[in-house]
Amino acid sequence: MTHWLSVLIATPAHAALDSVLTYRSAQALPPGTLVRVPLGQRETLGVVWSPNAAESTGEFDPEKIRAVAGVLEGVAPLSAAWQQLLAFTAQYYQRSAGEVALAALPPQLRELSPLQMQRRLKPPKNGASGGEAAPPAQVDAPALTPEQSAVVAHIQSQGPEAHPGPYLLFGATGSGKTEVYLQCVQQALAADPQAQALVMVPEINLTPQLEARFKARFAPLYGGHAVVSLHSGMTNPQRLKAWLGAHSGVARIMLGTRMAVFASMPALRLIVVDEEHDPSYKSSEGARYSARDLAVYRGKLEGAKVLLGSATPSLESWHHSRPATEGGRYLRLHMPSRVGLEGALPDTAGALPLVRRVDMNHQPRKAVFSLPLLDAIRERVARGEQCMVFLNRRGYAPVLHCLDCGWKSECPHCSAFRVFHKIDRTLRCHHCGFTERVPRACPACGNPDIAPLGRGTEQLEELLADLLSDVKRAGSVSPECPAGEPLRIARIDADSTRLKGALEEQLAAVHAGDVDVLVGTQMIAKGHDFRKITLVAAVNPDGALFSSDFRAPERLFSLLMQAAGRSGRDAALGAQSEVWIQTFQPAHPLYAALKRHDYPAFAQQQLLERQQAGMPPFSAQALVRAEARTQEAAQAFLNLAREAAQHDESLIALYPAVPMSIQRVANIERAQLLVESPSRAALQQFLSAWHTVLHATRSQPQCKGLIRWAVDVDPLAI
Ligand code: ADP
Ligand code: ZN
Ligand code: ZN
Repeated sequence: MTHWLSVLIATPAHAALDSVLTYRSAQALPPGTLVRVPLGQRETLGVVWSPNAAESTGEFDPEKIRAVAGVLEGVAPLSAAWQQLLAFTAQYYQRSAGEVALAALPPQLRELSPLQMQRRLKPPKNGASGGEAAPPAQVDAPALTPEQSAVVAHIQSQGPEAHPGPYLLFGATGSGKTEVYLQCVQQALAADPQAQALVMVPEINLTPQLEARFKARFAPLYGGHAVVSLHSGMTNPQRLKAWLGAHSGVARIMLGTRMAVFASMPALRLIVVDEEHDPSYKSSEGARYSARDLAVYRGKLEGAKVLLGSATPSLESWHHSRPATEGGRYLRLHMPSRVGLEGALPDTAGALPLVRRVDMNHQPRKAVFSLPLLDAIRERVARGEQCMVFLNRRGYAPVLHCLDCGWKSECPHCSAFRVFHKIDRTLRCHHCGFTERVPRACPACGNPDIAPLGRGTEQLEELLADLLSDVKRAGSVSPECPAGEPLRIARIDADSTRLKGALEEQLAAVHAGDVDVLVGTQMIAKGHDFRKITLVAAVNPDGALFSSDFRAPERLFSLLMQAAGRSGRDAALGAQSEVWIQTFQPAHPLYAALKRHDYPAFAQQQLLERQQAGMPPFSAQALVRAEARTQEAAQAFLNLAREAAQHDESLIALYPAVPMSIQRVANIERAQLLVESPSRAALQQFLSAWHTVLHATRSQPQCKGLIRWAVDVDPLAI
């Protein structure tokens, strides 16, 4: 008997070809089956989707239907929940189901021949896989603190009164959130011999300790194959292996970055999203999905508990976890104290670093480092402690300019300045990568006097070396070495870590105490556990207070809180560590809240502002971005689609197209259009209907030169 199958294949975002094609098969194949199908001259991977859809519409010519070439033997069909997750993602983020589903599978599923696949599917030789092999060993788990116990009890509780989640674990850095994750995973796995857990982190490369902690805890219990990782730093064979492990159920725990939200886990019972506020959970290419939001959706779909954790939650999650009586859907669980310091002081903030604001209005004009900050750094390094200075701008200076004619180091291909990198004397565009040697003289007027304007991390490093040149490393002066050793100042940013392994190496040097002062961008403020650093300084953070991006204050607050939380985590040093903020706005409420380590106050004030302005989470947004050879074409496309839109103006606001803040990158003009609605459902409905209009608009004569366009639902940057 012949069966007609709808098969999902990968199609480019806006291809004319639909992503669901009909094929025939002699066998009935359930939805979710992975198959090879012919497409033109080649064969491609497909997923059997809803059955018989094409047959029932009767709109196909059986003569023209080609046969499925083969089934991926040994790989069980993807679950119905997985299919639903992918279908939802495609619909919500306005992409084709084929594109989203196939991109969510490991690339090698597509590339390997049937024979190669068979080899990959062979069970591991030493047989130590699965739960049955290793007898339950003893694991070293610390006794939970009272705060941790209370949180775990909430998450584990059953029965009609229990909150089903999602749970927002609002825990100070060092309050032991990771231990809570470990406990919850352990209990979920112990309750059911099949159960699986997914633990998501923003970036695995930054947190090798986390992976080590999970392996140490669970490998003795469930064997070495029980814990797998999934992230973009892995090779394709590694990714396939991890994916198959989870898909077959041998892997019980998956640790991964945002892509892991799509991992096939047939018995998923728990999803943890660590640092849930982190912007890297939002994809910036293809389907622009938020892995955090999808984790919440997936949890509901699969009946898995969802635990979001952060010391500075996203305002969205904070808002969702308001009291249920006010409409909150998440349960907020609070762990305010650092482990080991609970009850040490009546005021818990006392155990957290002291935040000091330096009023730069009272410092010498043009001072980069205020005198009190320099003194504090000297004092710390003299005691053998480490300091960290951060500035969110890499390179030596953001612009080079001519003192005579006013020439500036603009990028010829972008509407942005090229950054001066003194180390290799280049001007580099951070948007398109265009790089040139620094000219000897002004290219416009020949004046040899061209000078850097503003400063980046390279310059800070140089300046600090100069300002601290008289300081010796603590303990380095000895009879054999009467002059002592100079301080070691290191820099960590995207430039210093370009080579593979460079970041790990530099971090290791900091941890080993081989660095006295660390200079860097936000890269160093995020995710690292710098226990010996007792002073963190933000040199010039004010920009975010006045940014046109309404999320900038939220990001600054979380960055500074993270930086504060990272420092001095060795309990012996914790009480003395300090965070310095150099600012021209010392009275700003953001810094005042930071000084009190008072995220709730900051969040309340921000949410009030957003509510008054009708911003998310009090409204839903989407951006349509267009790229074209000319700005006119990009804007014409957006504005024509706007005019052709059919919508209820009380529900949907369509703003006129505007150039993006960096209007031109690599000679491509960019524009965007904002869609806003008080209702997420209304926005979704509008976008689905408007999609065909956008497609049709493309062929209008005014849009000649349009290169591509894409919808970004719930954009993070506007
Ligand atoms: P967070 O993830 O909230 O920043 P961690 O989970 O990394 O905090 O915990 C901070 C430190 O406290 C870690 O070194 C961890 O091993 C330790 N720790 C956590 N919970 C406990 C506990 N119950 N008893 C003893 N030490 C703990
Ligand atoms: Zn000039
Ligand atoms: Zn450029």
